[in-house]
Amino acid sequence: MSQTPEYIEGIRAHFPLLKTKVNGKPLVYFDNAATTQKPQRVIDRISEYYSGQNANIHRGVHHLSQIATQDYENARIRVKNYIGASRENEIVFTKGTTDGINLIASSLGELMTKGDEVLISAMEHHSNIVPWQLLAERTGIVLKIIPIHQDGTLNMACFEDMLNEKTKLVSITHISNTLGTINPIKSIIDLAHKVGAKVLIDGAQSIQHGQINVSELKCDFFVFSGHKIFGPTGIGVLYGKESLLDAMPPYQGGGDMIKRVSFEKTSFNELPFKFEAGTPNIVGGIALGTAIEFLESIDTNQAFAYEKEVLNYAEKALLQIENLKIYGTAALKTSLVSFNVGKIHPFDIGTLLDKQGIAVRTGHHCTQPLMDFYQIPGTIRASFSIYNSKEEVDSFIIALKKALNALS
Ligand code: PMP
Repeated sequence: MSQTPEYIEGIRAHFPLLKTKVNGKPLVYFDNAATTQKPQRVIDRISEYYSGQNANIHRGVHHLSQIATQDYENARIRVKNYIGASRENEIVFTKGTTDGINLIASSLGELMTKGDEVLISAMEHHSNIVPWQLLAERTGIVLKIIPIHQDGTLNMACFEDMLNEKTKLVSITHISNTLGTINPIKSIIDLAHKVGAKVLIDGAQSIQHGQINVSELKCDFFVFSGHKIFGPTGIGVLYGKESLLDAMPPYQGGGDMIKRVSFEKTSFNELPFKFEAGTPNIVGGIALGTAIEFLESIDTNQAFAYEKEVLNYAEKALLQIENLKIYGTAALKTSLVSFNVGKIHPFDIGTLLDKQGIAVRTGHHCTQPLMDFYQIPGTIRASFSIYNSKEEVDSFIIALKKALNALS
C-alpha cells in the first residue's frame, strides 16, 4: 500500500520540477531549507506579467502602469493578511531575509549608540551575524551571543541573565536552518519587551512551515524570503511595527522613497515607500502574492502535519544506520535533519546521493559558528517541504546506504 496520502500527490502535481529526473533517477528534492520549488501558477504568473503587463509602478498614469501598481500593492495586502499584520504600510518589500536584516541593522542601527547591546543566538545564519558585526564596528554597539545546549536548544536561563536596560534589540531566528530547532520566540519577545528591547525575528525557515501571526507574537520586526515560501528569488518581506518604521531613517536613497527633492533638502515618502528606493522587483512581489494564494488554496494544517510525519519517519530510519549522528535533537523541531556518519566528509556523501537523484545540502549551511560549537566542518542536511513523501525518504535511505557502502 502506498505510504503517500492522496492529497500529497495532489500537492506534488502543482510543482512541475518534481517530475524531473537527475542522473537518470527521479529527483528527490530534500533541499527545501535552501529554497523551495515553485508551483505552476507562480511560474505562469511571472510569464503572464512579462508577456501582458510589464510596466513600472507608482509613477505612471498609463493603463499598464496602473495595473502593475495595483497588482503589486494587492500582493502587499495579501502578505499583510497572511502574516497577520494590521496595516499594509508595515509591509516593506525587500530582496530577501538578508536584505531585511541589513535594512534594520543600518536604519535602526543609526538610532543606537556606543555601548548599546544587540543579542543574537549561537545558531544564527551568517546573515543575522555579519550585519551586526558591521554595525558594531561602525558604532561601538556590543554584540552578545545567547548560548545553546548540545541538543540545539537555546539556553533560556542565560538569555534572561543577558537582558538588561542596555539591550536595544534581540535578533533571533525562529527556526534554525541547520538544526531545525524551533525557538520559543513568544517567550523571547515577552522577556525582551520587559527590558524595553525590540525583537527582530528571522522567519526565513518558519514561513514555509506554519502560520505566522505577527500581531499575536507582538514581534517588532519579522523578515523572510519569498523563495522559501514557493515564490521567486530576489523578493522578500520586512514587517515592522508602524511606529518603529516611522521613527527609523531611510535605508537607501533614490526614486520612489521621496516626497520632494531639492538640492537644499529632501523630504521622504510615507511608509512603506520610505524604505523602497528605486524600481523594485515588481514581478517578484506579484508572484510572491501568487505563492501565498497557492498556500491559502490547500489544507496547510494537513500538509504541515504530514511534513512532521515525514521528519519523524526520516529520523527514525536514519538512526538505524551505524555511526550516524543527528545534530539538533530538540523536542520542538521542524522539517529538517542534519547529520554526519562517522568521519566521512559530508561532501562525499552528498555527491554520491546526487548521483542517485537525491538533492541534499552539505557543508556549514552559513552557520560556521554553530559548526565550531559542534567541532565539525559541516553536516548533511535533508530538509523537507509540503510535497515530500515517506516514499522519497525510503529512496533517500536506500541511496544513503549505497553511498556509505561505496565510501567504507
Ligand atoms: N536566515 C536563515 C535562518 C536562513 O535559513 C536563510 C537562508 N538560508 C537566511 C537567513 C538568508 O536568506 P536569503 O539568502 O534568502 O536572504
